[in-house]
Amino acid sequence: MKLDLHTHSAASDGLLTPRELLAQALAADVELFSITDHDTLAAYDEIGRAPMQGRTRIIAGVELSADWRGRVVHILGYGFSWDAPALRAGLTLQRERREARAWAIGERLRKKGIEGAFDGARTLAGGGSIGRPHFARHLVATGAARSVDEAFTRWLNDRATAGIAQQWATLAEAVEWIASDGGSAVLAHPAKYSFTQTRLRELLADFAAAGGQGMEVVCGRQPPEATLELGRTCARFGLLASAGSDFHGPESWAPAPGITPVLPAGLTPLWAQW
Ligand code: AMP
Ligand code: MN
Ligand code: MN
Ligand code: MN
Repeated sequence: MKLDLHTHSAASDGLLTPRELLAQALAADVELFSITDHDTLAAYDEIGRAPMQGRTRIIAGVELSADWRGRVVHILGYGFSWDAPALRAGLTLQRERREARAWAIGERLRKKGIEGAFDGARTLAGGGSIGRPHFARHLVATGAARSVDEAFTRWLNDRATAGIAQQWATLAEAVEWIASDGGSAVLAHPAKYSFTQTRLRELLADFAAAGGQGMEVVCGRQPPEATLELGRTCARFGLLASAGSDFHGPESWAPAPGITPVLPAGLTPLWAQW
């Protein structure tokens, strides 16, 4: 089954407008599709809330940045009610935090001799949810970095921005916002945190205890061994298995949204409930 439960539009740090992104998903015959922008539901103001677009089923989605023991983890939320009062109030807070962090990143870059980065990133983000990729693209456009990768390594990754306090929702809060509005919370890309197996299990224990329901077993491009390992971990915690591309734009490894995940045997897919 072709699906994509993890994609980004220009409402956050993706390159395509929500309409363009949806059009690509429809053109690729994606059967189950969600736009999971960082800390915003604005894409759905553009594409609407209809549960079906042609033959494609649309699932309400979002990706929240959250704090777990001083580390940033990403929590995906799906299938919440559209009024979603708790989630929407939380998202407003998260975007205020993004704004404050972006300002701090701009100040930090200014002290290092790079002027105008906040304004540049703000312009690239439009009215959307601002993030480090907007800074990275601005730094590349102005010649301060040769590539987005270099911009992250040199200026923007967690170590480079260590001086900037990131006051995201706690893991428990993020899960609570999603769950209280009837949604399912899913731990995004568990392999991307560079946690040891022990630490990942501590995270999943806390996540499950907080009401988390699933984890991504297939995310983006990953070797089959990684999928098997994540599948074992998923089964061990009794979580539902999810899958997505984490598509941000046509320039990335996945030129279009949509994947056909092969889940390890014995797992219950998140989408079985839909
Ligand atoms: P933020 O949400 O502002 O903390 O930015 C995180 C986003 O930056 C992720 O969702 C990715 O899209 C992107 N990202 C993180 N690390 C890198 C990297 N090394 N190179 C390119 N993009 C990155
Ligand atoms: Mn992103
Ligand atoms: Mn993420
Ligand atoms: Mn993502």
